[in-house]
Amino acid sequence: MTHAETEKPRIRLLVAAPRGFCAGVDRAIKIVELAIEKYGAPVYVRHEIVHNRYVVDELKKLGAIFVEELDEVPDGVPVVFSAHGVPKAVPHKAEQRGLEYLDATCPLVSKVHRQAERQVEAGRHIIFVGHANHPEVIGTFGQVDDGMMTLVETLEDVADLSPPDPEKLSFLTQTTLSVDDTRAIVDALKNRFPSIIGPKGEDICYATSNRQDAVKNIAQSCDLVLVIGAPNSSNSLRLVEVAEREGTTSYLIQRADEIDFSWMKNVKTLGLTAGASAPEILVREVVTQLEQQYIVDEEKVVTADERMVFKLPRGLEPA
Ligand code: SF4
Repeated sequence: MTHAETEKPRIRLLVAAPRGFCAGVDRAIKIVELAIEKYGAPVYVRHEIVHNRYVVDELKKLGAIFVEELDEVPDGVPVVFSAHGVPKAVPHKAEQRGLEYLDATCPLVSKVHRQAERQVEAGRHIIFVGHANHPEVIGTFGQVDDGMMTLVETLEDVADLSPPDPEKLSFLTQTTLSVDDTRAIVDALKNRFPSIIGPKGEDICYATSNRQDAVKNIAQSCDLVLVIGAPNSSNSLRLVEVAEREGTTSYLIQRADEIDFSWMKNVKTLGLTAGASAPEILVREVVTQLEQQYIVDEEKVVTADERMVFKLPRGLEPA
């Protein structure tokens, strides 16, 4: 041990597991990488492929060009749709223009899209639990005709609902919500509309609920929890909320250089996790940053073993 190290204070670091990349994010990034390999650069990507600036910047270096709308994609180049999913009108428009497209929508989001179509075909109006303007919500609303789905974000929204036929309702949810808040909203829907039908529990995906369980598990033992994720990443924001609800201060950071060491005053045990779109390299970057100031006693706290892998689209399997 060097002289400098003996002077550093110690900090206990509880690293939540599972954390970081989920199978849907992993697949979406691979789709862009393999599309660049197959077609050559540039490959256009409609919307941030996943909500993480580091990931987007790395893909830009390989030759990806990110745009918000299909109109910005020139003719004759392939385009990838992001993991959050897109309204049906988007692939339709791509086909009309003769654009080659690859759909990186997470299969768990696609499952919600299919449920939405089925419920509307069965003559039911859908109450969708989600966050206004999130791309996943825009994509899911775009699977059915206008007026067939109503968004609720809060318990107050449930109280204000006046659906066309209360006997013919179903509910669906965004995949990256707070497990606890969503349960309360779904319970309120079932109380107000006893004949409403929906998926068992809700559509919150395995990765979202595992990451929330994992941070909940460490939060009470920590004086502070840091969550690595983007401010527009729904599942990362929910991790901050979960830690705060356990009574522990929590901050969202995008990179290690956003750590404000004044937060660390009196912190003996620090929790660390990462949203589903944040790569592990950013977790290690934070640990390295902490090691500048502390002797870090790192412990991994595992609450679930994740082995989910999603198949790549046909024609894009790695050689
Ligand atoms: Fe799919 Fe869930 Fe990951 Fe979203 S967070 S990409 S729904 S696995």
